[in-house]
Amino acid sequence: MGKTWLFVVPVLAIMMLASAPPSSNWNLRTHGATYGTRGIAQVAFSTIVRDPNIPVEIKKGLEWNFIRTGAGAPDRWRQSPYYLDSGHTQTYVEIQGADYLENVERLQDMGVWDNVSYYLGIAAHYWGDVMCYAHHDNARLYYEQKYGPDLGYGIWDNYHHHLELQVKYYRPKDPALIVDDDGDEYTSLSDFIDAAKMRLDDFIYQTLRDSQNINNGYFGDWIKSRKIEETNYAVYANGNVDNVHYGSKELIDMSTELVYSGWIYALDNSSNNIASYVSADRITWEQWWSREHRTPGLTFYHKF
Ligand SMILES: [Zn+2]
Ligand SMILES: [Zn+2]
Repeated sequence: MGKTWLFVVPVLAIMMLASAPPSSNWNLRTHGATYGTRGIAQVAFSTIVRDPNIPVEIKKGLEWNFIRTGAGAPDRWRQSPYYLDSGHTQTYVEIQGADYLENVERLQDMGVWDNVSYYLGIAAHYWGDVMCYAHHDNARLYYEQKYGPDLGYGIWDNYHHHLELQVKYYRPKDPALIVDDDGDEYTSLSDFIDAAKMRLDDFIYQTLRDSQNINNGYFGDWIKSRKIEETNYAVYANGNVDNVHYGSKELIDMSTELVYSGWIYALDNSSNNIASYVSADRITWEQWWSREHRTPGLTFYHKF
């Protein structure tokens, strides 16, 4: 290789790396961050606006344009020229989503509704991403160990696009409010967050248990345990991911429920008590997990 090439090749490599967009989780449309969207944040928002039991002050305070902007913000922070946010792996977004919800409480007390809306949007982004198991903390490592570094990355990349594209235009089902095991609403945001983190840690752990032991952590393990449209789980075996979309729509429904519930508990306070009045169905974590409340004609804890 000539002297010029010794210089040119590294420069080209740096340019290519710098221009490659960081791989994101759910599409902005799925998050509800685009105009005319029917994504996660939009469905959570319209559930609140349509609810006759939520006080007008809250409905008037919330502003969709700020929520929508917030719902896209964390992906913009990751890109040029900011590079401010880390990759949206599951453990990271679990923590971030909870932090932003906690800020909502404080901002509402101060009466700064623009910021309340914006922060609700940001929280919706992070807790939307938390169900995107293609971005599991160990996902890439898992594939790289199974198939080698070069092939492994390509297989992971293919698979993760597949999962995310399947739900790009999906409108999540109307969310229910997640309540405690006795069917009671949580009395504080921090109680709800603690319970949510326990469940999400379970989810992250079960999806891909151990990147060092690839036989003990196949993505399909999680799907196999699900109660979903496809009952012949054999189709998921041996790395066949063509039918994973049966799971990806479910993941978006679960995200939406998590986001909606987080919003309600963040907006709930001692003067409005909205968590006890919202007209949405109530589901326990067990039901959220098993999706049994989605069985046609079967409703749990319908209050009104
Ligand atoms: Zn993201
Ligand atoms: Zn992705």
